[in-house]
Amino acid sequence: MTKQPWNVVFLVGFIVYLGIRAVYKRRTKCNERAHRRWHSVDNLLLVTVISGSFVLPLLYLFSPWLAWADYRLPELAPWIGAVVMLGALWLFWRSHADLGLNWSQSLELRKGHTLIQHGVYRRTRHPMYASIWLWSLAQGLLLANWLAGWFSFVAFAVLYFVRTPREEVMMCEAFGEEYRAYMRRTGRLFPRRGEPS
Ligand code: SAH
Repeated sequence: MTKQPWNVVFLVGFIVYLGIRAVYKRRTKCNERAHRRWHSVDNLLLVTVISGSFVLPLLYLFSPWLAWADYRLPELAPWIGAVVMLGALWLFWRSHADLGLNWSQSLELRKGHTLIQHGVYRRTRHPMYASIWLWSLAQGLLLANWLAGWFSFVAFAVLYFVRTPREEVMMCEAFGEEYRAYMRRTGRLFPRRGEPS
């Protein structure tokens, strides 16, 4: 593996991140799907995000192929990146734990889907996406390579802005006034201040 101790920090976080996802993916495997909203553009977006968050970092860490895109990060950057990474992992874990069996990788509703409004969903509608934003930021601050560091941030930005409005429409159709009231009480990525009713 290449160069810097920060790469090891990233790799450890990356393994924890994958571990959290694997645990909850296994738990939701048997949960039946009631409705799916999937277009071919979703496949393209997902493959792009997976390339940015998995393939490129691994190529950067374990091969010399991306060395042409290396650059020097300011010294403070990876320290900030490590702190952001810890926050991202915590939020990723908590949002998976709170969403429970309602989680899915694509836009789906499960049989017996319930609207979660507690825990990290109490004031924020998309804490899991917030955690992926943070993770992508941490990746850019830890890996001193333009491509391995920042491609994922840009790819996730596109996925987020395409997917989130569609997810909210789907949730409004499924939960009606309950979801609309939930939207009024919560922020998309940042907690809405004030006491939620
Ligand atoms: N956007 C959320 C969830 C991401 S997982 C977040 O960022 O935390 C995607 C799936 O979660 C969607 O297909 C939808 O079915 C489900 N979902 C989203 N918000 C939900 C909520 N508040 N309660 C239950 N399920 C939800």
